[in-house]
This record gives sequence, structure tokens and C-alpha cells, in this order.
Amino acid sequence: MDCLFCKILNKEIPADVIYEDDLVIAFNDINPQAPTHALVIPRKHIATTNDIADEDTALVGHMVQVAGKIAKEQGFDESGYRTVFNCNDHGGQTVHHIHLHLLGGKPLGWPPYFDENLKKPLS
Ligand code: 5GP
Ligand code: ZN
Repeated sequence: MDCLFCKILNKEIPADVIYEDDLVIAFNDINPQAPTHALVIPRKHIATTNDIADEDTALVGHMVQVAGKIAKEQGFDESGYRTVFNCNDHGGQTVHHIHLHLLGGKPLGWPPYFDENLKKPLS
């Protein structure tokens, strides 16, 4: 399967891995949007959040818990952070293997903007 994140899982493509266990790995995003920008991904290939099966719900919960553990380890669990799943085109998903973005280490703007320069909310 031609999936970038499966290739990272298989170590065909290098990544800066910061956490791993039997179910998930987490690594730093190549194009960070915050002082910490990590991606938590399941070892199981799931293309989008539309494809999460009943049997995957504990796995997805584990992904969120791991993001919280990384935030604690990096010292911004109390100050706060953001976790995001993007889905398909309008969500801005570019890699079709689900991944939980963990962004932290600075105050983050809300709502998210399509284009930071235009400062226009999504419409
Ligand atoms: P999406 O846009 O699908 O929600 O997020 C994909 C993320 O993967 C982007 O933030 C992008 O910077 C990151 N990314 C894309 N290719 C690579 C790569 O080869 N290595 C790493 N570490 N991150 C990547
Ligand atoms: Zn994959």
C-alpha cells in the first residue's frame, strides 16, 4: 500500500519518533505549526476518521490519551494544547492514514484560519 505513514511505521522513511507502543507511534511533524507539533498515528492503517470501525474506538481513545501523555512529558499539559483530526479535502487531510495532531507550547488562535495571512475564518 502506498501510504506515507505506513512507510514511517515500517521504517522505510525516517521520522523523529517521540513515543511508541504496541498500538501507536508518535513523531514530530516535518512542518511544525507550534513549538511542539507531533502526530500520533495507529499502527493499523485507517484511511480517515470516516473509516473508524466499532472495533477501533478504544484505539482512537488511546491515541488521544497518548497525546495527553506527550503534553505532560513536554510540560504543557496544564497550560494547554490542541488535538486535531483533519478529514478529507475540506478538513485539510493530506495523508490518508489517520493521525492526531498535537499542537502545544504557545497560545493557539481560534477559530483555525484557512489562510493565516487573510485572517478569514473558514466559510
Ligand atoms: P494532514 O494535513 O493530513 O492533517 O497532516 C499531515 C501532516 O503530516 C502535515 O502536518 C505534514 O506536515 C506532515 N507530514 C507530511 N509528510 C511528512 C513526513 O514525511 N514526515 C513527517 N514527520 N511529517 C510529515
Ligand atoms: Zn497507512
